[in-house]
Amino acid sequence: MTAFAACQMKEMNLAENNIPFIDLASQQKQLLPQIETNIKKVLCHGRYIMGPEVAELEERLAAFAGTKHCIGMGSGTDALMAALMALGVGRGDEVITTPFSFIATAEVISLLGAKPVFVDVNPHTCNLDPDLIRDAVTPKTRAIMPVSLYGQCADFDRINAVADRHGIPVIEDGAQSFGATYKSRRSCSLSTIGCTSFFPSKPLGGYGDGGACFTDDDTLAKAMKEIRVHGQDRRYHHPRIGFNGRLDTIQAAVLLAKLDNFEDEVIKRSDIGRRYSDQIQGIQGIVPPVIEDWNTSVYAQYTIQADNRESILAYLGQNGVPTAIHYPVPLHLQPAFEGRRYELAVSESLAKRVISLPMHPFLGADTQTHIVSILKAAVS
Ligand SMILES: *Cc1c(COP(=O)(O)O)cnc(C)c1O
Repeated sequence: MTAFAACQMKEMNLAENNIPFIDLASQQKQLLPQIETNIKKVLCHGRYIMGPEVAELEERLAAFAGTKHCIGMGSGTDALMAALMALGVGRGDEVITTPFSFIATAEVISLLGAKPVFVDVNPHTCNLDPDLIRDAVTPKTRAIMPVSLYGQCADFDRINAVADRHGIPVIEDGAQSFGATYKSRRSCSLSTIGCTSFFPSKPLGGYGDGGACFTDDDTLAKAMKEIRVHGQDRRYHHPRIGFNGRLDTIQAAVLLAKLDNFEDEVIKRSDIGRRYSDQIQGIQGIVPPVIEDWNTSVYAQYTIQADNRESILAYLGQNGVPTAIHYPVPLHLQPAFEGRRYELAVSESLAKRVISLPMHPFLGADTQTHIVSILKAAVS
């Protein structure tokens, strides 16, 4: 065994007595030989920037998502930024998005000098409410950016219908939903541009930062390819402004190894989510996540809703069940967006009610039953 592998094994054993919130160690145990082989290949050829693994990964991801193009990016945030830039979003423009998300979604809009226009979400799916989008469109609206939260796609047929009526492009923030399906089509293939993240804890995660943009549009694909290398179309020739937004070759090598198992992990995630919901369904005061009939979720988070959250969190913590809150402060109430006065009742209520439970493809049925029994005890 290499020193690298031995070190990883030791870490895993230390964690064995605790319930992990996300179990990357078990996945690594399964995939380590392939990951090591792939990384060594990169160390051997030495093409750390835009090496052959990046193109190979892009080809496989495009085939997986069902799009014509995939463009590897340095992170999910870079992917969102490049998508907005390719669509020409800039100063004075408005982009309609959800306040119930990670800050990156709205941050990139502000970074470009545009204004995030926050529209409230559906209380069951926690995703953008298409009816409310219609009322928020103005002559300044340049894009709609729904998030497919917790691993479930937003309602793209209805969102695209509103967008089409006004001739506005739609960017899916699929950072949490890669692998999910909407009416049998994959996340990131459902709108003008789809963006995802390979942050280590996402459904398809690398061992560092990474992300990707997806599109069927040749012109947008070319623009995003240029944007990720400083707006360059050939060496030292820059027809547009871009930034350094490339996916590392070593991350592409890790992701190629992880992609071999991803299809299987997606099924496991969906099954594990369903198993949670079957057991949680009857518990008084706990609302399991609602997955629409036409969706399959990859459960980036398995997130329940509860009234008396603080006491439940404390009880779960005391009994060895790790939890997280996604997200405690809606974006329209973040100090960074101060001065924009909104009242978005559903998002504000969700921020006080949501609890994410341990979720990963290696969560055993016994551990899951144990977690649910502690949850039951917490509310009784
Ligand atoms: C993680 C995440 C991002 C950002 O992705 P990074 O790879 O961390 O930059 C953006 N949007 C959502 C909804 C996310 O969950």
